[in-house]
Amino acid sequence: MQPRSRPLTQRSVEQHQTLSRPAAYSAAVDFELPPETDPRRVEIRSWLNEHPSPTGRQLAEAGYVAPHWPKPFGLAADPIHQLVIDDELRAAGVRRPNNPIGIGWAGPTLLAAGTEAQQHKYLLGLLSGEEIWCQLFSEPGSGSDLASLATRAVKDGDEWVVNGQKIWTSLGHQAKYGILIARTDPEESKQRGISYFICKMDSPGIDIRPIPEMTGGHTFNEVFMTDLRIPAANLVGEVNDGWRLAKVTLSNERVSLSAAGALWGMGPDAGDLLALVRSSGGVVDPLMRQRLVDMYMQSEILRLIRLRTVTAAIAGREPGPEASVRKVLADEHGQQIMGIAKDLAGAGGMLTDAGPLGTEVGIWHYGYLFAPALTIGGGTGDVQRNIISERVLGLPHDVDVEVGKSWSESQRSAGSSAT
Ligand SMILES: Cc1cc2nc3c(=O)[nH]c(=O)nc-3n(C[C@H](O)[C@H](O)[C@H](O)COP(=O)(O)OP(=O)(O)OC[C@H]3O[C@@H](n4cnc5c(N)ncnc54)[C@H](O)[C@@H]3O)c2cc1C
Repeated sequence: MQPRSRPLTQRSVEQHQTLSRPAAYSAAVDFELPPETDPRRVEIRSWLNEHPSPTGRQLAEAGYVAPHWPKPFGLAADPIHQLVIDDELRAAGVRRPNNPIGIGWAGPTLLAAGTEAQQHKYLLGLLSGEEIWCQLFSEPGSGSDLASLATRAVKDGDEWVVNGQKIWTSLGHQAKYGILIARTDPEESKQRGISYFICKMDSPGIDIRPIPEMTGGHTFNEVFMTDLRIPAANLVGEVNDGWRLAKVTLSNERVSLSAAGALWGMGPDAGDLLALVRSSGGVVDPLMRQRLVDMYMQSEILRLIRLRTVTAAIAGREPGPEASVRKVLADEHGQQIMGIAKDLAGAGGMLTDAGPLGTEVGIWHYGYLFAPALTIGGGTGDVQRNIISERVLGLPHDVDVEVGKSWSESQRSAGSSAT
């Protein structure tokens, strides 16, 4: 076990003056984590003494992977308890299993709508990281407008027969299971005729083809489904209720303080780049200095937004507008950090192995090439802004020319207008 450092305990967090801002923006940042003697800390420390290098399965069985989930899969932990567990695991150098789609999306949906049998069959394997999951949602013609998806699932006895194509399927080549949404009633409106399935990725009829990325890595895939048979027991929730379920998972975010990394919470943050600039003797170019100051201000704004979101969760309040704007700001901030780092590498930055200001390249080059994905994945920046304008600012909704039409009618009119 690594030495215990305790930088995050008894966190004193800045008090925010409410001044004359609108009420929605005025929630004060005001919480402290429980002291060293808190029984919840004592409990997890004694568990860590017994399990100094816990496996994913041990962490999952103890409820420490997703402590906010209900028992027996989690600990039904309130936000403070979640932060205490994060704090103790971090201090002990223990990392949770990495299964982002399984733990972040599939699990919460199975908890909300899965049968008991489905929950017991899948959740522990998913939490332990032993069974990786992927998400079969996007299609070549359906990304932002996901509800227009065309992959069909037709009931045949005790099975569903699926035909169609998915794209951008992260981890599809490593996953044991996928969450799949497919059209089960084309005569319903586009949102109403979709169902939600669990798909075993090594089933006959699935063809997974890699999409190489400009980073040099391979995360994405195209997934073709031809007469793929999915047992009826793998339907999640009710037939034609899949669109609602697809949205359920989006609202299930764990309370966390450690999400400052430029690449969706991972990787270096603005503080890391500033430290690197300082340790390299600083920069004299006034425009670059200005960009660094702007980056620092953005990072401070995001830090305060994160703290407010956590404060609201701890106080049992719904997240305010700050939660909606966080993704837009954080994704653009990630691109800002990576762009500055690349420019600081100078002409050498055109090569793959030059870091900022002559330092080691580390993750900077990869991060720069990955950064454009930040404002696309999980909903593009434009779509997030639409959501903010409608749900936060109360501006009118886009005119929906498909209102009152079934999915088939929309397809027919799209086809006729294309000719
Ligand atoms: C790193 C990464 C991982 C991903 N992983 C997965 C995965 O595992 N599974 C999966 O199913 N998908 C995944 N995706 C796909 C992702 O969800 C889609 O790329 C995203 O929803 C955008 O869809 P699209 O690419 O079809 O773009 P489009 O929807 O075609 O958008 C094209 C452009 O039009 C703009 N636009 C579209 N509609 C509007 C509108 N109403 N108003 C204003 N502008 C609009 C967009 O902002 C964008 O600039 C991943 C994407 C990335 C980048």
